Amino acid sequence: MSLSYSLSAHPSPTSEQEREGILANPGFGKQFTDHMAVATWTKGEGWHDGKVVPRGPFQLDPAAAVLHYAQEVFEGLKAFRHEDGSVWSFRPEQNARRLQRSASRLAMPELPEEDFLGSIKALVAADEAWVPAYGTGETSLYLRPFMFASEAFLGVRPAHEMTYCVIASPAGAYFPGGMKPVSLWISTDFARAGEGGTGSAKCGGNYASSLAGQLEGAAHGCDQAVFLDSSTHTYIEELGGMNLFLVYRDGRIVTPELTGTILEGVTRASILQIAKEMGLQPEERRIPIQEWKDGAASGELAEVFACGTAAVVTPVGTLKWDGGEVTVGDQSVAGGVGENTADIRRRLLDIQYGRAEDTNGWMTRLV
Ligand SMILES: *Cc1c(COP(=O)(O)O)cnc(C)c1O
Repeated sequence: MSLSYSLSAHPSPTSEQEREGILANPGFGKQFTDHMAVATWTKGEGWHDGKVVPRGPFQLDPAAAVLHYAQEVFEGLKAFRHEDGSVWSFRPEQNARRLQRSASRLAMPELPEEDFLGSIKALVAADEAWVPAYGTGETSLYLRPFMFASEAFLGVRPAHEMTYCVIASPAGAYFPGGMKPVSLWISTDFARAGEGGTGSAKCGGNYASSLAGQLEGAAHGCDQAVFLDSSTHTYIEELGGMNLFLVYRDGRIVTPELTGTILEGVTRASILQIAKEMGLQPEERRIPIQEWKDGAASGELAEVFACGTAAVVTPVGTLKWDGGEVTVGDQSVAGGVGENTADIRRRLLDIQYGRAEDTNGWMTRLV
C-alpha cells in the first residue's frame, strides 16, 4: 500500500509579507519552506508513517548510524511555475529510480517510485505559495529528498531504521549577474570515486570526498575541480556535483561514458537527447584529459560546459593544472558562452517552464 503523507499544517507559517520578501531574492539553499515530508522505514514494518509536518530539527540519537557510517543518499530536483499558475517537475521518475539505485548501493531499502512522487506532490501542495511566480527569471522551488540511517546502533551492518525526508528551498537564478564561464582545476591528488565504489550513487560521502579537491582548486584560483579516473588519472570523469560535455566544431558533443564511477545525471541524459534533436552528434565514451588540452590548443574544441539540476548548464572557460592552462572558446564573444551551450540551456529551460512543447513527455504536473 502506498504512503498517504497526511498533512499537519504549520500552526504559524511564514507570513505572506515575509515570504514575498524571501522570494524576491532567494539565493540558493539558504531559505526553506514551512513544511517537510517524512516517512520511516523499519526492518519489521517496511515503509510507514508518511506525513507532511512543520519543518524543524530531527531528534537524532548520537549513536544514529548515519553520523558514524554515512549511510545516506539524496536527490535534487526542481518545481517550476508555469504561466497558467500550475506547478511542474522535470523527469521526477528518474530521480525516484536513481534514489532507489543509490539506496541499493548503500545497502538501504528502496522507496517505491509512487511514494517518492507522492512525497513531492504532498510537500509542494502544502508549500505551493513558495513556488516562485512565472516570469521571475530562472526561479524555482528546489526539492531535496534524502534518506538516512536513523537507528541508534554502533555495530557495523545496514541499519534497521531509516528516515526519509523531503525539504524545499526557493531558488533564484544560479547566475544572477548573467552566465559567466567557470574555471576548473584538474585534481590529481584526489579522486571523488574509485572502481567498485559509490561514484554512481548520489550519496553524501561522495561529496565529502570531493571537498578536498575543491579546496585545492580554490587555492589555485579555480571555481571548481574536475576529477579524473582514480586508477590511471587519464580520463575525464566529472565535477564534484556536475557532469561535463565537450562540443567540437564539427558538431560532435562528447560526454564521459558511464563507467560506474560517474553519477548518471538526469540533465546529462536529457542533453544527449536534445543534442540529437539539434542535429549534433552525441558521443558517450572515455575522454582523455589530453584531448581537452589538445582540442583547446588547436581550436577544434569549441565549447565545454558542465550540467546538473541546480545550475542547468554552466559554461567552462579555463582548465588549469600543475604546470599549465588552456581556455576553450572565444572569451570576447557573448561573454565566453558558446552558441551550443546557450542553445541547449535555453531549450532545457523552455521545456521546464512550459514555453516549449514537451515532445519527450518529461514534465510531471505536481499542483
Ligand atoms: C546530482 C549530481 C549530478 C547532476 O545530476 P542531475 O540529475 O543532472 O542533477 C552530477 N554529478 C554528481 C556527482 C551529482 O551528485
